[in-house]
Amino acid sequence: MGEQGKRTAVIIGAGPAGLTAAYELLTRTDVRPIVLEKNPDVGGLSRTIEHHGNLMDIGGHRFFSKSDRVMNWWLMHLPLESSAAGGTEITYQQKTRRIETPGLSDAQAQQNAAAAAERAAGLTPNPEAVMLLRRRQSRIYFLGKFFAYPVQMSRDTLSKLGLLRTIRILFSYLRAALFPPRPVKNLEDFFIRRFGKELYLTFFKSYTEKVWGVPCQQISAAWGEQRVKSLSVRRSLRHFLKQTLGRATQDIFQKQTETSLIEQFLYPKYGPGQMWREVACKVEALGGEILRQTQPRRLEIVGPRVQAVLVADGAGQQRRIACDFVFSTMPVKELAGLLDGPVPKNVREVAAGLQYRDFIAVGLLLNSLRIKDDVSSPAPLVADTWIYLQDPDVLAGRLLIFNNWSPYLVKDPSKVWIGVEYFCYESDNLWKLPEEEMARLAMTELERIGIIDAREVVDWRVERVPKAYPAYFGAYERFGEVQEFLDGFENLFLVGRNGMHKYNNQDHSMLTAMVAVDNIIAGRTEKSNIWAVNTEMEYHEEKS
Ligand SMILES: Cc1cc2nc3c(=O)[nH]c(=O)nc-3n(C[C@H](O)[C@H](O)[C@H](O)COP(=O)(O)OP(=O)(O)OC[C@H]3O[C@@H](n4cnc5c(N)ncnc54)[C@H](O)[C@@H]3O)c2cc1C
Repeated sequence: MGEQGKRTAVIIGAGPAGLTAAYELLTRTDVRPIVLEKNPDVGGLSRTIEHHGNLMDIGGHRFFSKSDRVMNWWLMHLPLESSAAGGTEITYQQKTRRIETPGLSDAQAQQNAAAAAERAAGLTPNPEAVMLLRRRQSRIYFLGKFFAYPVQMSRDTLSKLGLLRTIRILFSYLRAALFPPRPVKNLEDFFIRRFGKELYLTFFKSYTEKVWGVPCQQISAAWGEQRVKSLSVRRSLRHFLKQTLGRATQDIFQKQTETSLIEQFLYPKYGPGQMWREVACKVEALGGEILRQTQPRRLEIVGPRVQAVLVADGAGQQRRIACDFVFSTMPVKELAGLLDGPVPKNVREVAAGLQYRDFIAVGLLLNSLRIKDDVSSPAPLVADTWIYLQDPDVLAGRLLIFNNWSPYLVKDPSKVWIGVEYFCYESDNLWKLPEEEMARLAMTELERIGIIDAREVVDWRVERVPKAYPAYFGAYERFGEVQEFLDGFENLFLVGRNGMHKYNNQDHSMLTAMVAVDNIIAGRTEKSNIWAVNTEMEYHEEKS
């Protein structure tokens, strides 16, 4: 028991999962959260970086979820911009409804209670704290041409690829449909089975290997299953036909739509970090504590429980926090090294062998880009949010055009603010490049493939992001051994992305935290329902 006879939860990490856990505990339980965050700012991978008045989103964070619980939660904290002026109608599963109208589901009832708790804490809505509804446009840039993303078997794609390659694609797709690779041993087999070899070689191999830095044969097929899910040539054809016939839905909840084909998303006016600063502010106003620049040093174990966490702040000042629960969103690899108790040799080995892919984002501020939607287009800027760079001879993997995410990310609206993404390992020379050389590399590469004229660049920013992607190779095959051991501590909850070593997006990361809090309320110590998030197409709460 902590202060005022309340139970205490130590939450490691103030990213989406940690802050969701803190907010849920404060509004639904008597447990007081103490959040440890090693950085000065909150938001984790979903933070927003400020650079000379321009805002940078690392990776581009679409706010979209198939979970109503998450969608409602986001909109409770940052309502849709237009709803501030009397409400907005949205279409949801063929039904039209107003966003702010309370429904009858448990999740919404909980949110009403949360809103009441916020009012009691004197929190008032901030008119700037809103979401924009954005249109997603992502394309692949390859051989100096734009292709639809995800790649679609449309007339446009086929005409840009040329007759010979088109025939090869169709034959290899048919071949894969008739004689699929069996068993599906790795990601390459997964892609070939789903798309055929030729399409895999043209559109998937190079980008995927840029992202992961290893051949697709060395990556688990599980990555494809989670990331690509049921996207297939057949589905993409069906989507294309639907669009052509004008029946594509305007439903922002888009539950019927394959995740990779979603065409609209919500986005905080000032980037994803706005959501997490807003939630952090509420957590503190509601009585939670966020200890910034503070890290756990040791978890004291007694039997099947963590009884306290020893923490140290940036100045090295140490403090022991007795706790009833621990939520961890820090990398599993590092957590395993903090347990002050016997850790079996195999668990130590597997945890130490977990791998991650790191990420460098280069922000470039320009007067203009060289690319246009088409030669005759009067629009000064292409409409894309993301552009995938497929050419194998440039290291850059993806490009974000921040103006199209939110115009409020750009200080001077006459400028173009873009993010160039590089995937690498902390051990690579690329990671160690001085910032100026890194920025120069981004400019040279984009100039080489015809996207910019480097002389148009007026400012730049380099941001290194360690452990952006938990890898599904290396010791991952034996991850179950670590999971089983850590799950054995009844009051320790692994949640989030690196916290579970799972390719979780914000919504999945948040749901794992929500389900962990549900378990605390229900007195449940078995954790399979937390691991089930993001393994099924729909979550338990939706099924029920
Ligand atoms: C390139 C890219 C694009 C993405 N795009 C999307 C998208 O479009 N939509 C979407 O929903 N999601 C997207 N995501 C995923 C999203 O960023 C993550 O799902 C989400 O941020 C995970 O939340 P988390 O709290 O689990 O972890 P994190 O965001 O990693 O937060 C963990 C926090 O823990 C802190 N921490 C770590 N170790 C310690 C320690 N020892 N002590 C104290 N604190 C510690 C970190 O500093 C961090 O603040 C993307 C991710 C990337 C990398």
